[in-house]
Amino acid sequence: MSAAEQSSFFDFFGGSAPVPTGIEAPADKPDVVFERSAKATRYRLTLKKDGTAVAIVPLRGSEREARAFVEEHREWLERARERQKRKPRGATVWTLGTHVLWRGELSEVRKAVDGERPQVCIAADVFRVARLDGDLRPTLEAHFLRLAKAELPARTWELAAVTGMSVSTVSVRNQRTRWGSCSADGGISLNWRLVQTPDFVRDYIIYHELMHLKEMNHSDRFWARVGEVCPGWRDAEKWLKRNGSLLGL
Ligand SMILES: [Zn+2]
Repeated sequence: MSAAEQSSFFDFFGGSAPVPTGIEAPADKPDVVFERSAKATRYRLTLKKDGTAVAIVPLRGSEREARAFVEEHREWLERARERQKRKPRGATVWTLGTHVLWRGELSEVRKAVDGERPQVCIAADVFRVARLDGDLRPTLEAHFLRLAKAELPARTWELAAVTGMSVSTVSVRNQRTRWGSCSADGGISLNWRLVQTPDFVRDYIIYHELMHLKEMNHSDRFWARVGEVCPGWRDAEKWLKRNGSLLGL
């Protein structure tokens, strides 16, 4: 290790006062970023979507141990990076022939014929586009959002009636990291990408938020309520784990 590296590491680990979280910031882009966490009880290595590897270091961790931990998991890290490169990413361009997740199925974006007007179909749905070449994604996602704004609130009101919950507002949003959320005053927000998921997954997310209006936590009581109204919730969770990346989340 060079002297420069040593000193940057020392700045990070050297302080005696507890530091909540720190990020090592050497001059050149580091292979692994070390983050100290007051909550962490052990070393952990994660790979972020942007390709940055982050080593979580417990508060009482040492430089030597942190580096050794990373070296021990070097092979895992290289494999994870390879996997990430192969995986379809959120920013993928959509063209004719691309398979996109729509209504729970991976379906091809195909050219639809309607005289002079360019349009495409995905499964049974037809969407007007400005042109057939170039990236179709922004236009198609705008169509998806429009449908989501019509369909998701309607479905939420329906399921609220079925479960006897009183909901104040339903909004549909572009959320990058969550499927839904709710507020104490009975408002429910849903991710528009739920129109891309199968119906049982969409319904599960709605039930999940509805039950939060009774239990604002993830306690056993909460999950028992979810299980009562949505017995298939575990399958929906599994689907989301497996397919979330297809949605660019
Ligand atoms: Zn929840």
